[in-house]
Parts: sequence; C-alpha cells; structure tokens
Amino acid sequence: MTHGESAPPLVRDVRFLLLGTGTSAGIPVIGCDCEVCTSDDPRDRRTRSGAAISFVDAEGRERLFLLDCGPDHREHSIRHRFKRVDGILFTHDHVDHTFGLDDVRRYNALMKSPIEVFADARTREFLERVYRHIFRRHENVNDSFVADLFVRTISPGDAIDRHGLRFTVFEVLHGRLPVLAFRVEALDAAGRVAAVQPGPLPLAYCTDLSAMPPAAWPRLSGLRTLVLDMLRYRAHPTHLTVDEAVAIAARTAASRTVFVHMTHDIRHATLAPELPAGMELGYDGLVLSGP
Ligand SMILES: [Zn+2]
Ligand SMILES: [Zn+2]
Ligand SMILES: [Zn+2]
Repeated sequence: MTHGESAPPLVRDVRFLLLGTGTSAGIPVIGCDCEVCTSDDPRDRRTRSGAAISFVDAEGRERLFLLDCGPDHREHSIRHRFKRVDGILFTHDHVDHTFGLDDVRRYNALMKSPIEVFADARTREFLERVYRHIFRRHENVNDSFVADLFVRTISPGDAIDRHGLRFTVFEVLHGRLPVLAFRVEALDAAGRVAAVQPGPLPLAYCTDLSAMPPAAWPRLSGLRTLVLDMLRYRAHPTHLTVDEAVAIAARTAASRTVFVHMTHDIRHATLAPELPAGMELGYDGLVLSGP
C-alpha cells in the first residue's frame, strides 16, 4: 500500500446500543408521582446507564463489549437477546454502573470461556471486595456457579485493541473523582486506526462527569458520535446540567451527540425539540449505527 492510501476497517456492522439512560435511581423513581415518572412515553422510562457495542470481526464473528454493567444488566440482556460478552469496560465503581456483574456468569456458561474485565485500580479494588465470592471463589463455603472473570487494570492513555476495535482510555471528572471514558475506533489490517471509520465511529462514551479536564479534549476531536452525561437542569456537584452538556457537545463539534444519565427532571418530549441541531436525548434501546 502506498503512503497516504487509506486502509479499510476490519470490522463491519458496528452498532452502539444505549442499554440504559437513567440516573442511579432509575426512572420511574420509586414512590414518585411526578409527570415524568408517570409518563406514558416509553422514552421517559430509563433504566440505569450502560451501553454495548456490537460488531462483526474480520473472521465474520459477532462480538459484543459492554460499557459498564449496572443493576439492570439482566433486563438489558434479555431485551437485546445477548448471547455473548467479549469484554466489559468499567468507567468507575459506582453501584449504578457495577451491580450487574454477578449475572455475566451466564455468558461464561454459553461461551465456555472467561470474560475479560477492564477497570482502573480503584474500580478493580471495589469489584474484588464486593464480588469476593467471584474473585476469592476458593473461600466460598459451597462451590457454586459464579462468574469466571479476569481483570486487567487500565489507566488513562491506554489503548485496548480487541477484535479490530481500539478503546482509548481517558479521564473525566465526576465531582472530585476521576473516572474513565472511552474513545472507540476501528483498526485497519496494519493495526492502525482506520482512515475511514464504520457506523457510529469514532465514538466517545462519557458518562458520569461534571467537568471535562484539558487532557480529555484531544480524545473528543473528529467524533462522529459523542455519548455524554446530562443529569438535569439544576446544578449538581458530580454531573453536567443541560446547559453544561450542550456547551461541551458544541465545543467538540461531534456530528451527533446523544445525552444520557438523566433524572426525572427531564421529560423527553419537552427537552428534545429544544436541543441544538446534532444533539438529541438518548433513550433505552436506542441503537446508533452511523450515517
Ligand atoms: Zn451513574
Ligand atoms: Zn419522578
Ligand atoms: Zn457515578
């Protein structure tokens, strides 16, 4: 291949699935009678946030990666009929992003193989403590059916290349807590980022943040898709407001921005038409498959 010629991506049929788009309580909120919690609009029903990316690799195999694995994962999996998980990338250790991990044991049984889990050092410590029955299985009183996982510690700047995709890890600020975000791109046969990206790629997944640190901005350049936190209208110490999220999306100039992690302050049919061009509200089950 001559210099400057663009190599095609190895993967095809890339689909990014918004599995859950709600804040930690989920919408409807338990015991709440507000207009969003009682709404008939299915887009106002939001399970806890998480996403998946599915694609077909160079050998023609279906692949699926999860971004977080919250308490509604089982419901997400059944809705989307997942039969395998090739890896799980965690953004941070909060319960609404991690408390579905026990259920991935079903994929171990279906695939007859362990699942690779990627987490920063803090999240890894949390997972190994909370899921002690998985990670210290030999101490269980009875030998029971638990997930088979191997955890890799990741840090900002790491590039995780799997099955023709690259996940580049970067850091955003969730209040005072640094958490991870991911830029997802397809690779070419030489292992470089493909010049022409398929489907919704390049895509950045930025859930749970209140500020975009300077080092994050280069990871947000040239995006076809930005998935971004947008909690509510009023200020919050650990999440973006509607105005803050719109300002960040505008600065990235991503072709398409989809907002996630919303509370019951946001009624889909009210806010969606007010957003600038190229920006939209996510909802559970929305599939981003590109232009
Ligand atoms: Zn969250
Ligand atoms: Zn409510
Ligand atoms: Zn969080």
